[in-house]
Amino acid sequence: MTKKTFDIAVIGGGPVGIFTAFYAAMRDLEPVLIESMPTLGGQPSNLYAQKQIYDVAGQFGVNGSQLIQNLIIDQPPFKYETCLETTVENFVKQDDYYQIKTNHEDIFAKAIIITVGNGPFNPRKLAFDYDPQLEGKQLNYFVKNLEDFRNCDVLVAGGGDTAVDWALEIDKVAHHTSLLHRRNQFRALESSVKRLMDTKVELLTPNIITGLQLLPDSNKVSVSFKTVGTEDTAQVIVDKILVNYGMTTDSRLLRKWGLELQGPFIPVNSKMQTNLEHVYAAGDVVTYPGKQKLITLGFAEGPIAVSSAIADIYPQKSNFGHSSSMFN
Ligand SMILES: Cc1cc2nc3c(=O)[nH]c(=O)nc-3n(C[C@H](O)[C@H](O)[C@H](O)COP(=O)(O)OP(=O)(O)OC[C@H]3O[C@@H](n4cnc5c(N)ncnc54)[C@H](O)[C@@H]3O)c2cc1C
Repeated sequence: MTKKTFDIAVIGGGPVGIFTAFYAAMRDLEPVLIESMPTLGGQPSNLYAQKQIYDVAGQFGVNGSQLIQNLIIDQPPFKYETCLETTVENFVKQDDYYQIKTNHEDIFAKAIIITVGNGPFNPRKLAFDYDPQLEGKQLNYFVKNLEDFRNCDVLVAGGGDTAVDWALEIDKVAHHTSLLHRRNQFRALESSVKRLMDTKVELLTPNIITGLQLLPDSNKVSVSFKTVGTEDTAQVIVDKILVNYGMTTDSRLLRKWGLELQGPFIPVNSKMQTNLEHVYAAGDVVTYPGKQKLITLGFAEGPIAVSSAIADIYPQKSNFGHSSSMFN
């Protein structure tokens, strides 16, 4: 069987990667977008979903979450493939393509556009030892499908927007929802906290989780916690626990890719070319004189990278990419 070789692999599904993959598809290429998280969205989704954005042209006042929804169109006229929960570990140049090594299967592409921002996002995990087999079953760091929580007893841990928003959503389908946080106040949008107070979600504050144990002959877990500033301890027994303690990023992976770097950034020229043949970069990960870490700048760098890739890998192809109307 012959392997599928994409025209372009876009590594990193933040706003810049999403738009770059879409734009590559609009330019009649076959792109694949690779993202380490279970959902696309990068910083706007993971760090400021509720914050309003005013400096992306035509998107005045949308919040981080809405901006990403506007980028991921339901029925895009120009299609790209997406690989989620797939972290690029390295890539190796073969004859006229790159073999991209991930935590899953290898992916093959003629050109690569790196849009990894500050590196892969990872959830901040519980800070004590627990059975790793609980992850993805009783212990969750993401919600992949709200239905997984239907009719369950659920403990949500955390005090920010994500924890409060998920407690509100899970409460609609779960048998019982509790929200555990180390403070009495939540650091979430005021209107969400107000909605929370009007629900039957049980608030377990100010507490810290200290242990997690699978109950024998059961699929339930016992969650132990301690009240902050006291020696008081207690347990709750639940079907599922969702931990929303925020995200961390790690830019060290980039050092293995043979790229010339300036600190954690990739220097690029005005064509968004890196030091490696047919490898381009855009968004927060790049540096050049005058670079600013703004979404709008990344939205311009992506198309430059795609146009450069077309000129390099398909020199015979016309490189006239200023209007979508020509494709209708
Ligand atoms: C609090 C806050 C507020 C901000 N407000 C604004 C604003 O109002 N306006 C504005 O223009 N900008 C704002 N920014 C900056 C803006 O969010 C960034 O410029 C933008 O997110 C950069 O997009 P990106 O796609 O380059 O990177 P990111 O958004 O960081 O996305 C990179 C993606 O790549 C993935 N990834 C990384 N490594 C790998 C790998 N090896 N394999 C697979 N996937 C990988 C990551 O998981 C991530 O999803 C703000 C930033 C913060 C922190």
